[in-house]
Amino acid sequence: MTNIPSITLNDNVSIPILGFGVYLIPSDGSTYKAVREALDLGIRHIDTAAAYFNEREVGKAIRESGIPREEIFLTSKLWVQDFGFDLALKGVDASLKKLGLDYMDLYLLHHPYGDVPGAWKALEAAKAAGKIRSIGVSNMTPKIWNEFVPQFDSLPSVNQVEYNPLYQQKPLRELLAKSSVALESWGPLGQGNPELLSSPVIADIASAHGKQPGQVILRFEVQENVIVFPKSTKPERIKSNMDIFDFSLTDEEMNRIRALDTGKGRWNPEDPGVADILRNYDVHADD
Ligand code: NAD
Repeated sequence: MTNIPSITLNDNVSIPILGFGVYLIPSDGSTYKAVREALDLGIRHIDTAAAYFNEREVGKAIRESGIPREEIFLTSKLWVQDFGFDLALKGVDASLKKLGLDYMDLYLLHHPYGDVPGAWKALEAAKAAGKIRSIGVSNMTPKIWNEFVPQFDSLPSVNQVEYNPLYQQKPLRELLAKSSVALESWGPLGQGNPELLSSPVIADIASAHGKQPGQVILRFEVQENVIVFPKSTKPERIKSNMDIFDFSLTDEEMNRIRALDTGKGRWNPEDPGVADILRNYDVHADD
């Protein structure tokens, strides 16, 4: 079985550098099946969110896997609808209830709008109460980070943002490195973006190593110390996406991929109107 390395976060919590994301996997048994498959293949890190409406199936898959709970790293996220201190405390409990678990390893503020400092205080309180081991944020650009994080009493352990070779988040990574905050990549395969998966540079490096383009992309990312959790419901792809620890990219190959950075992603958290769109989404529709 593939041995997946872990890294240590700034709060001393250890996290496997490669996990499995379940965004857009429906709650019709598919999430349960995919998570069981990922765990059977040796993945020990699952990334979900209240807004994915599949926390129940993720929790059931973890509970029924037969794997000791402490060997699995589980992340979920709080939706903007639940920001502010009191609502966020309830949001943490709602996630735990749906998951059917006593604690979460990592819990993130999914998007940085509304009463972010109040929600953060609630995450700190839930951590102190033993309900969460590590707390972090998501979708914070340097500007948004500098607006909110100085108001927090404690530092986030991670910032989960869009990241792939076409969007390498250089200014943000420099900022986070100063506080040893880990970068987690969402969309590590560019959410299937053909411009990335069919890049001639990636194809060339893949053929030199006898690997698939997806494997070279993910290998580049973990070699950059970025935490990844690619999503797929196909067992052969889940397997291939984790099979990246038996080769390494040379400095020259890393530099060729670094040169693919366009400095732009598909999602801009600073776009006006984003907050209103997200606020209209009711994550308690399945309570
Ligand atoms: P991803 O980059 O993992 O891409 C998934 C897509 O790529 C799927 O369509 C899949 O079929 C395809 N794919 C998977 N393996 C492949 C391979 N080897 N070759 C070619 N295609 C392949 O995108 P994602 O699922 O959006 O991101 C990963 C995880 O990040 C999510 O599941 C979720 O947990 C998290 N996420 C978080 C946020 C956030 O706002 N915090 C946003 C999006 C996603």
